[in-house]
Amino acid sequence: MHRITVIGGGFAGLTAAITAAEAGAKVTVHEAHHTLGGRARTAEGAYRTNEGPHALYNGGPHWAWLRQRGLIGPLAPLPPLEAARLRLRYQGVLRRTPPFAMLKLLRRSAREAPVDVDFLTWAAEQAGEEGARAAAHYSAVALFHHDPGRLSAAFVQERLRRATKLPPEAHYPRGGWGTVIDRMAARAWNLGVRVETLSRVDTLPTDTPVVVATSLDAARRLLGDSTPTWTSGRTTLVDLAVRSRRGDAFAVSDLDSPGWIERFTAQDRSLAPAGEQLLQGQIPIAPHETKADGVARAEQLLDLAFEGWRERVTWRRTAVADGRTGAVDLPGTSWRDRPAIDRGDGVYLAGDQVAAPGVLSEVSFNSALTAVSLALGRHTLDLKQA
Ligand SMILES: Cc1cc2nc3c(=O)[nH]c(=O)nc-3n(C[C@H](O)[C@H](O)[C@H](O)COP(=O)(O)OP(=O)(O)OC[C@H]3O[C@@H](n4cnc5c(N)ncnc54)[C@H](O)[C@@H]3O)c2cc1C
Repeated sequence: MHRITVIGGGFAGLTAAITAAEAGAKVTVHEAHHTLGGRARTAEGAYRTNEGPHALYNGGPHWAWLRQRGLIGPLAPLPPLEAARLRLRYQGVLRRTPPFAMLKLLRRSAREAPVDVDFLTWAAEQAGEEGARAAAHYSAVALFHHDPGRLSAAFVQERLRRATKLPPEAHYPRGGWGTVIDRMAARAWNLGVRVETLSRVDTLPTDTPVVVATSLDAARRLLGDSTPTWTSGRTTLVDLAVRSRRGDAFAVSDLDSPGWIERFTAQDRSLAPAGEQLLQGQIPIAPHETKADGVARAEQLLDLAFEGWRERVTWRRTAVADGRTGAVDLPGTSWRDRPAIDRGDGVYLAGDQVAAPGVLSEVSFNSALTAVSLALGRHTLDLKQA
């Protein structure tokens, strides 16, 4: 029986562990934290916040895989009345529909954007500068970068298409992503995967193939190799509980600068106590900006879309997610140019900043599948040659 070690028990690590165990391997997972899930954990307690994923995109490769194994569980559908409460800030005021110029970029017939040009330059040629800027800012909901217009046009277009598709791709596991993680952990357990929590690994084992399913920062330390790097975003997160009020927006997208606020209790009442609503603002900030700058921009959006929110606040927390929102590709680069999965000597990388396609956590998923198939394939080859 093949043996595999997986370092990191987030979405990538659990995907790798389940895949390897299903293929008959004997798997051990080491997770530094006392619980599994990494960024996909859902907080315990009255306010069930998610740092990382909220939305599970049904156009992604993980959707069918999770579904086939019964791991998605019940979903929290967004009621149509709530969906109608999506608001957009454009030129300082709130509106219900995107500006016409931006719509040009969302047409199905829109041309495929190139990899080697920045989005703003390419999109301005298609729809004018204002429409291009609005579309770039909208795309921040799926890429979390302070200047999406400067990224590769092909990269931004893919996220814009996925985030604006109708019917929407975004689905919400009831109780948060943590419930998906719990089901994945149970599946791994049933397949005989050995899971060691509070088990930080400092040295790579040499007696089994290893899937390093950590952040790229942690992977560099483990590999003793400073070369695997890639660009990511920096985002202020504002988690807020407010007393309920009729007519609050479901979500607000800032088309004047990148930013998104969503009321997650609109689709899932179980995330906050009765009579309260749970919101998260995600405001990408530039390298020279501070958390306070992001919070100030979130508050401007809240003032516009959530009347009287300051008097209604019951709980609040702010944080900065730095390099934790997945890879972004600069002009001239695509996912193929990111750090390779196969590091040689039986070591494989998985995570959301490595060379695999997909949006956000889909990169973790795809790279985990590739890492395991390479690890098992190589091992089988070695055995045949021995
Ligand atoms: C604000 C925000 C919003 C997001 N929204 C979405 C969304 O709506 N949809 C979506 O699909 N994605 C979203 N994402 C992205 C998603 O959260 C990540 O892509 C995904 O959770 C990454 O999973 P992972 O397993 O690759 O990494 P992680 O979740 O970071 O897991 C790595 C694990 O490795 C462990 N570890 C690290 N070092 C060691 C070590 N030395 N030994 C043992 N264990 C170690 C860590 O403790 C951690 O548990 C969002 C992210 C953020 C920050």
